[in-house]
Amino acid sequence: MKTITLKLNQAQIASLRKAYSRFPMRTDIQHTQFQVRMDDCTITVYNSGSVVFQGDGASFHAEQFGAPVLKQTPESPTQTPLNLPMAGSDEVGTGDYFGPITVCAAIVDERNIQLIPVDQITDSKQINDDLIRILAPQIMKHVPYSLLVLNNETYNKVHEVDNMNVIKAKLHNKAYVNLEKKVGLPESIIIDQFMAETPYYKAIANEPRIIRTLHFETKAESKYIAVACAAIIARYAFLESMDSLSKTYGMTFPKGAGSHVDRFGARFVDEFGEDELYKVAKVHFANTQKIMNLR
Ligand code: MG
Repeated sequence: MKTITLKLNQAQIASLRKAYSRFPMRTDIQHTQFQVRMDDCTITVYNSGSVVFQGDGASFHAEQFGAPVLKQTPESPTQTPLNLPMAGSDEVGTGDYFGPITVCAAIVDERNIQLIPVDQITDSKQINDDLIRILAPQIMKHVPYSLLVLNNETYNKVHEVDNMNVIKAKLHNKAYVNLEKKVGLPESIIIDQFMAETPYYKAIANEPRIIRTLHFETKAESKYIAVACAAIIARYAFLESMDSLSKTYGMTFPKGAGSHVDRFGARFVDEFGEDELYKVAKVHFANTQKIMNLR
């Protein structure tokens, strides 16, 4: 059955209520303002402002109140029509010299979207670290997800064989395989695209199980709620790992790969030795040579 969820403001909800006033309306369902039942569609308006259109006529009815279905606007995933349930995945840490690569896949459905702070879930790059630490646990409590953290020692070993894109492709696929085992996968699966589709599937060709129904889209974290949730969880895990590294070594590890990272790296090597870099950094980055040159 087709399901479309829109986020509407109170004025839009009032006009929806008026437009459908001649159909049977229920107002006794928990967490909802009302529900309208028609032959081809049931419209449920939640207290949160999420409006779920369910049935063969879902697209027709939803289009009266929002942007055309499947057309996404990039600004905020919460203001776009959503086809739920939806799985999405994203990764963090690939541009950071220090710290792991974290990959997360998550599923948002008609039920759990009511329980997560949808209004605050936007592109995780626009959210500061403090808010990530607040939002992520709230999302993780309600949304099924698979989170993979590839520590630096393992990454450096794997990178001798696979390049960064291959590593990422395998991790995304594995996250979806885990999620499939855990709760099953929905029809719509969106991967925040970091490489073209053909080389992606080539990279994972030898994996024991391959999820082949992915929709590839760039900047997906700003367009799809499931990708936005996955990105927030992945970033949270990255922050936690950086905190734990900072605690272990008694130095605050910097993000990114700029010259501040080189200066920090030089201090780190002075204190702990060059070999220790293998445990905390992606050593193939050009930063390693720059760090050695600084010493
Ligand atoms: Mg991404």
